[in-house]
Amino acid sequence: MRSFYENTLALIKESAETMKLNQEIVEILSSPKKIVEVNFQIKMDDGSFKTFKGFRVQHNDAAGPFKGGIRYFPEVNMDEVKALATLMTFKCACVNIPLGGGKGGVIVDPKKLSNGELERLSRAYINSISEFIGPDKDVPAPDVYTTPQIMAWMADEYSKYKQQNEPGIVTGKPVDVGGSLGRGEATAQGGVYVLEEYLKLNNLDIKNLRFVIQGFGNAGANAAKILFNAGAKKIIAISDSKGGILVENGIDIEKAMKIKTDSGTVINYGEGKVITNDELLTLECDILILSALENQITENNANNVKAKTILELANGPITWEADKILNDKKIDVIPDILANAGGVTVSYFEMVQNKMNYYWSAEEVQTKLSPIMKNNFKVISENAKKYNTYLRLAAFITALQRLENKINFKIYS
Ligand code: GLU
Repeated sequence: MRSFYENTLALIKESAETMKLNQEIVEILSSPKKIVEVNFQIKMDDGSFKTFKGFRVQHNDAAGPFKGGIRYFPEVNMDEVKALATLMTFKCACVNIPLGGGKGGVIVDPKKLSNGELERLSRAYINSISEFIGPDKDVPAPDVYTTPQIMAWMADEYSKYKQQNEPGIVTGKPVDVGGSLGRGEATAQGGVYVLEEYLKLNNLDIKNLRFVIQGFGNAGANAAKILFNAGAKKIIAISDSKGGILVENGIDIEKAMKIKTDSGTVINYGEGKVITNDELLTLECDILILSALENQITENNANNVKAKTILELANGPITWEADKILNDKKIDVIPDILANAGGVTVSYFEMVQNKMNYYWSAEEVQTKLSPIMKNNFKVISENAKKYNTYLRLAAFITALQRLENKINFKIYS
């Protein structure tokens, strides 16, 4: 199996070949501009000191400051962060916002830290990369297991370092300290806007469709809630890291959210059948939403996938090999770099609001987000037709067309 980063490079190469892109552009986008690895210490609650390793990868800034989340996860590694940073460059280009791509990670299981330890870790990490980041340079954000509270600590720490208020150093902050309304649900909401456009194009009604959702974190749980409120009453299965549940008549999402908050996992839902994550991925359904981690559908289980359409709210949930299998099976995949770009788009809105120090209403955010998601889905669908290819490649081609223009201006003028 190729690594996540190799997968991403293979996608760039394939899309560049399809559109006959200049090789120099491919080369520029095939390696990150800068890679930072840091080791830092924090004091644990028992008085001992512990060393943690963190990364920040700055992939490309032709379109604007490097932009992308920070992931706290025990298995984070450089290959993964490089892949995620590269995907961010393509994601921002896919929705045509003036930002580049970056990503960070810390090797840690945040569930094993106390709140105080989590705060010290977050402050220490941002401190150790502070010379490399900045509101016009590189702007981190939440990702897997990083929260608005963590962003607030990071913004506060960076502001101390700069001796001035710097809310624009990170996005995804709580609204009280310079966050944008709508940022919390933005990844899910953006995905739903794209899905609505896809359903319209295919004459499908959300109310009649069977949904399966993998992952019940920020993206998955919010997607479930938004879809449920939009009339999707047949969300038949959901899961989190502990496992999943299958309820043929449809899950009451409000109830599932409460159970997740109270007990830590959706498997305590109490009705239907408890299933494994592997079983969930191969359930018969119309729309499968992947909102957990990368490499979930691989060559080992792709043949058993029975969904008609897949929406990727996670980054890289389908491997290169699996993508080809799904494509042969005529399963439409709405790719990550478009489907989950609502998050970074509202992060961009947050940066704009921080710069103006003037804040928008929730309606204003939605009024701006919806056309960005829907129009870019149309552009990508048209490119899929033009190049006679599938949506993921068309999304990469669309991003490459935009990046090529920006890179040419910077390099050759
Ligand atoms: N972590 C999110 C992503 O993968 C958001 C990034 C951001 O807002 O900068 O798209």
